[in-house]
Amino acid sequence: MFCHSTRDESLRADCARGVLEGLAPDGGLYVPEEIPQVDARAWVNLPFLPLATQVISAILPGISSMESLVERAYTGKFSSPEVTPTVKAGPFTVLELFHGPTSAFKDVALCMLPQLLTAAKAQKGMKEDILILTATSGDTGKAALEGFRDVPGVKICVFYPEGGVSQVQEAQMVTQEGRNVFVFGVKGNFDDAQSGVKHIFAAADHRRLSTANSMNLGRLAPQITYYFKAYGDLLKGGEIAWGQKVNFSVPTGNFGDILAGYLAKEMGLPVGTLICASNENNVLTDFLATGTYDRRRPLHKTISPSMDILISSNLERLLYFVSRDTSLVKDLMEKLNQEGHYTLPESLMAKIQAQFWGGWCSDEKGKQVISRVYGDYGYLCDPHTAAGWAAAEEYRGKTGDENPLVVLSTASPYKFPEAVLSALGEAAPKDGFAALAQLHGKTAVPVPRNLLGLEQKPRLHTRVIGKDEMLPTVLGL
Ligand SMILES: *Cc1c(COP(=O)(O)O)cnc(C)c1O
Repeated sequence: MFCHSTRDESLRADCARGVLEGLAPDGGLYVPEEIPQVDARAWVNLPFLPLATQVISAILPGISSMESLVERAYTGKFSSPEVTPTVKAGPFTVLELFHGPTSAFKDVALCMLPQLLTAAKAQKGMKEDILILTATSGDTGKAALEGFRDVPGVKICVFYPEGGVSQVQEAQMVTQEGRNVFVFGVKGNFDDAQSGVKHIFAAADHRRLSTANSMNLGRLAPQITYYFKAYGDLLKGGEIAWGQKVNFSVPTGNFGDILAGYLAKEMGLPVGTLICASNENNVLTDFLATGTYDRRRPLHKTISPSMDILISSNLERLLYFVSRDTSLVKDLMEKLNQEGHYTLPESLMAKIQAQFWGGWCSDEKGKQVISRVYGDYGYLCDPHTAAGWAAAEEYRGKTGDENPLVVLSTASPYKFPEAVLSALGEAAPKDGFAALAQLHGKTAVPVPRNLLGLEQKPRLHTRVIGKDEMLPTVLGL
């Protein structure tokens, strides 16, 4: 099977090439030519590893030895043997995606991507080093650094918005060890960093570049796995019978995680509504309600920084899937780029609204949710997960849809200890690590091992650059 650009179906690549390139040459995103139809009923009974093997092989056929790639990716990396366990909390099931090496859901994909990339490279007989460029809103950066550190034939370069990530997130990145890693703060926000990366792709095509952002199909494919896994858990727990629809609420930024849910649904998993949860940067909430995507608004810094995004790259893939019209997608993306907004034709919007529902919550509401969920159910969630929870409650309340609902939990609360502490009514110390210790003292929820002792590690990457310096910096690596 081939994939092609969302903006031009004549720009085709086999899956190995698609993963290697990351982004299509015209700036579009690679999409599979067809979404595979699978035996979902059998798949939901599989444990995580064989399930991931099936899922990723289905989306990226032609990358060989998938079983051993998956084993190498996940074995010994996650603190839960199930990789992505579910827990019941009050009215919802929480799908915990943060038990990997960096305590964010990005690990599920970024443990796998280096395996896919090196396999693709070998298959193509490519000898030159690949440079992986990554813009991060906080979590992708560390997960990618950890995934690619010391991988032969690969260099990894991460750009994070200076002052736009939590103190713990920043410490995770700037203390990264490894012979092939580069980390830079950028004077700007996430959208600036992501646009900068896209610009480098356009300007520096003589270099061997790829990306670890969810623009890469190899990032997206592994994320489909946990939707099947969560459905299987509900089935095993006797909460549903096969075929019953399950709704998922997904804390959303770049629209990658929730798009993986859409793909699971299109592959045959009985998914009901996909609830797109945003913070105050509610550009997607507005889009889902009105059909107009309008990024002409200020970017707010919130307590859920990994969702502080106004240009949700993967929405482009959804536009393609519902329209199957690359020239329409190309026009819309050009309009977004030049004018900052676009409106989708009504018939297409109706298709999206039949499957997606959008909600958002303010920081204040998010903190109330953290406090209430902890008080009522003893479950401590991070601010991103709280946005997912809030949207889930709002969806149930407004629609009366009582189908089982899974809230995706995308990060450990210890990555954002200041916000979580203050949500619990404690005066949070300014220092993120003091806050982490205090949060542990208060809740006794175990601290992920990778976050312990971070503040003592040497800060190896201290350069902060302007947006305009991204290209020359990369050329100099
Ligand atoms: C990246 C991230 C998100 C958003 O995921 P997208 O795939 O970008 O929509 C949500 N929560 C956390 C904690 C994240 O790191």
